[in-house]
Amino acid sequence: MSEAPVRTDVAIVGAGPVGLFAIFECGMLKMHCHVIDTLEVPGGQCAALYPEKPIYDIPGFPRVGAAELIEQLLEQAAPFEPVYHMDQRVEKLERNGEWWRLTTSRGSVVEAKAVILAAGVGAFGPNRPPLENLQSYEGQSVFYYVTKPEDFRDRSVVIAGGGDSALDWSILLADIARKVYVVHRRPKFRGAPDSVAKLHALAEAGRIELVVPYQLDRLEGQDGALQAVIVRDFDDAERRLEADRLLPFFGLSMDLGPIRDWGLDLDRQALTVDPFTCETNLPGIHAIGDVASYRNKLKLILSGFSEAATAAHAIHPRVHPDEELHWEYSTTKGVPGKA
Ligand code: FAD
Repeated sequence: MSEAPVRTDVAIVGAGPVGLFAIFECGMLKMHCHVIDTLEVPGGQCAALYPEKPIYDIPGFPRVGAAELIEQLLEQAAPFEPVYHMDQRVEKLERNGEWWRLTTSRGSVVEAKAVILAAGVGAFGPNRPPLENLQSYEGQSVFYYVTKPEDFRDRSVVIAGGGDSALDWSILLADIARKVYVVHRRPKFRGAPDSVAKLHALAEAGRIELVVPYQLDRLEGQDGALQAVIVRDFDDAERRLEADRLLPFFGLSMDLGPIRDWGLDLDRQALTVDPFTCETNLPGIHAIGDVASYRNKLKLILSGFSEAATAAHAIHPRVHPDEELHWEYSTTKGVPGKA
């Protein structure tokens, strides 16, 4: 059901870590935000792709779980009372007089004085292996992300792929699952050398079984309940792996989707911005985080945080044209509701 159009100071597209921090930075400058995201829960890549993994390069946190970082960012943003519109993609961005009008896939309309695009890699999704009836197993026996490793306790799991995700989850699930098969089409794995060494050590200890060089061929099961994964080598020899879970890790398909059609200057999968303001070629439309591109850009969460501050300061005169912005530290200014 579509909601009535709402007006706000800043509309943020993307509730990943960088979009969430932008709420705080805008809030500190008295700008209210509505945030829209395709995913059901906030957190972007951190929540959807690696919630259980530790991150080591967030300043002030020697080690923080990706999910925990998102919880902290939500808490930091909360005093500014952002409005979240989840589970809907922004399809259209148009000018409506003084306002930028965003229309979502659910028909919600948000009008804002400025827009911050924190859309990461765009709407992202897994690369699916070309297996017959795959869809009927998805969400029940076939998963592209692991959110709760405990869900795999005592399961027989086939992990397919040769990159970091396949390696990381094979190593982690070796302690939890009853059986872990790792299927890869080459004998050599592409992941971090340390992980490759761990994988081989676990294989030698009999805690996982390497099925190489094999490719997924078909699934056996009924009503979404997987019973076996059939794999095939390059001489057409088959093996039947008894398994009730399949985790294919063949990378992500990343697509900016509708953002490509909004008249913004593109640099491949990203938006060209002026690094001093994070403004795109359209006035009042800023891009930050992974989706922003400029010379020597580092696609790191910490760079995105800094860009959030830059964009908020650049947007302030547009939202409050009659107010001079007096520079103040958060230590001086404080945060609503906090001592
Ligand atoms: P994202 O996290 O990608 O969030 C963007 C959000 O925008 C998504 O939720 C998406 O659904 C939404 N969106 C896109 N288009 C639309 C639309 N049209 N309408 C509505 N919503 C939309 N970085 C580090 O700094 N340190 C690390 O150690 C680190 N480890 C990583 C490990 C892995 C396995 C991966 C995959 C990434 C890692 N990264 C790390 C990278 C880091 O996660 C990204 O730099 C970060 O997530 C970028 O944040 P973001 O908010 O810009 O975008």
